[in-house]
Amino acid sequence: MDDLTGRVALVTGGSRGIGAAVALRLARDGADVAITYRSAADQAALVVKEIEQLGRRALAVQADSADAAAVGSAVDAAVTELGRLDVLVNNAGVFPYGPFEEVTLDELDRTLAIHARAAFVAAQAASPHLGSDGRIISIGSNLAERVPFPGIALYAMSKSALLGLTRALARELGPRGITVNLVQPGSTDTDMNPADGDSAEHQRSLTALGRYQTADEVAATVAHLAGPGGRTITGASLLVDAGTNA
Ligand code: NDP
Repeated sequence: MDDLTGRVALVTGGSRGIGAAVALRLARDGADVAITYRSAADQAALVVKEIEQLGRRALAVQADSADAAAVGSAVDAAVTELGRLDVLVNNAGVFPYGPFEEVTLDELDRTLAIHARAAFVAAQAASPHLGSDGRIISIGSNLAERVPFPGIALYAMSKSALLGLTRALARELGPRGITVNLVQPGSTDTDMNPADGDSAEHQRSLTALGRYQTADEVAATVAHLAGPGGRTITGASLLVDAGTNA
């Protein structure tokens, strides 16, 4: 286990799926953890309870990532309540699917706001609080690198923005010792993409390992980047996709 004792993390979209797994893993590694959620207050409360049972402090903040002001306030709340901020994990996400001709402007704006603008705004809000050895880790998608089926133009475009943001922030924050990285998962068994869903067999067939991965397996990579092992990894985009893009 990497040692995050004494550190504070904020994970957006930490009520379920990959975000919840990341929040719990960082807590197991020693961090106090704040999470945001959009509507699943009960599930966010369960994650907080589990973190507290590990002996860490925890906080859940309702903040729609499509709302830039709410994202900034969530960062401020984490700092105020937990006393500092060392690790920001931009995870909250949605999966718009369908022919690109049918995507409405509202859906386009909302998806870009959740995946790209929120990550930018959260990094801006977090930056003054991050000390040397601070971390910004975003959860992108392997679909930003390779698009193996139609219907995901908006999703792939919105996640692609994180590649540029990650490299640029790595340059901008590097002199302060802050690392900035992108984790790009592939098919991961969550509510968004259940391993027994309609397209699961096809997705499984695209992997090199022949299987979905668990949210905990993605969280393990995030924990490595957040811990001492990630100290000189920056500006990197790491595929965690069971070899789908191999
Ligand atoms: P889930 O749908 O299981 O969980 C999504 C989480 O994000 C929930 O905590 C949800 O909150 C939160 N969330 C969604 N929209 C918003 C919003 N507007 N504001 C704040 N929080 C929000 O998804 P996953 O865990 O599967 O996905 C997590 C991330 O991983 C996403 O960015 C996704 O794109 C990415 N990803 C997932 C893959 C997969 O196969 N599962 C593959 C590649 C990338 P609430 O509970 O309140 O709804």
